[in-house]
Amino acid sequence: MAQHDCLVYLNGDYLPLGEAKVSVLDRGFLFGDGVYEVIPVYGGRPFRLDEHLRRLDDSLCGIRIANPLSDQRWAEIFDRLIAGAHDQYLYLQVTRGAVPKRDHAIPAEIDPTVFVMCSAIAPIPSSGVRAVTLDDIRWRWCHIKAITLLANVLLRQEAVDRGAAEAILIRDGWITEGAASNVFAVVDGTLTTPPKGNDLLPGITRDLVLELAHENGVPAVERRIGPDELKQASEIWLTSSTREILPVIELDGAPVGNGEPGPLWSRMQAVYQDYKQRLRTA
Ligand code: PMP
Repeated sequence: MAQHDCLVYLNGDYLPLGEAKVSVLDRGFLFGDGVYEVIPVYGGRPFRLDEHLRRLDDSLCGIRIANPLSDQRWAEIFDRLIAGAHDQYLYLQVTRGAVPKRDHAIPAEIDPTVFVMCSAIAPIPSSGVRAVTLDDIRWRWCHIKAITLLANVLLRQEAVDRGAAEAILIRDGWITEGAASNVFAVVDGTLTTPPKGNDLLPGITRDLVLELAHENGVPAVERRIGPDELKQASEIWLTSSTREILPVIELDGAPVGNGEPGPLWSRMQAVYQDYKQRLRTA
């Protein structure tokens, strides 16, 4: 959790979090008109920085905002905010900016609002979590990391209300992703994840898991997964920057595999932690 007095970046200034204020006429506040990124930081260094900055470019381009900063400038801001060597994450948000009056159409001249903060990463429950499947009620541009997260919030809360940590979403009869994570299933020994497209976020952790699987001879495919197939998977994982590779041990009240994190998860978890460790000490 970010401290009230921790240093944040807002529109060119560094100031304590408690003093960072934006206008109520900011289109981020009025319309959820903006995008964000979450970048883990290990050993004082942003993890997969280039990949996160490329995805930020894509998200900004997708909502017609020009990237307000160069990669170098983003990196300078991150370096200034990262405090110490413990595991942290950078949260950055770019909104379209503050407007003179509320109107859906985008004004021609407008300066985006740029906010960055750095917070500690919460401990990850490696013993596994419960998940439930829910109807994917989100909009159709889920490849954009938009701050407009009302559907994700309601879906996650529905999962929490049912005693689960995550909602795994189904659209048109296919698994898309989690409310705040990507989904992997182990089907007949093969690591399987839905292909990229407009209905899911191209997760940086997802891509890294696929990359590490290929490097380590773990069979992996990107193809659509149906809900019945998911129910029969021997392992299910959720991936995200702050929760890494999280095993699902119960889906819709039924155990996944034998109800414990599976052997392929243990293997990939070791590979992933080793990759992180190499970055910490590089
Ligand atoms: N899908 C959604 C909807 C998410 O919110 C997230 C995490 N922000 C992810 C996938 C995972 O993406 P990443 O691995 O880049 O954190």
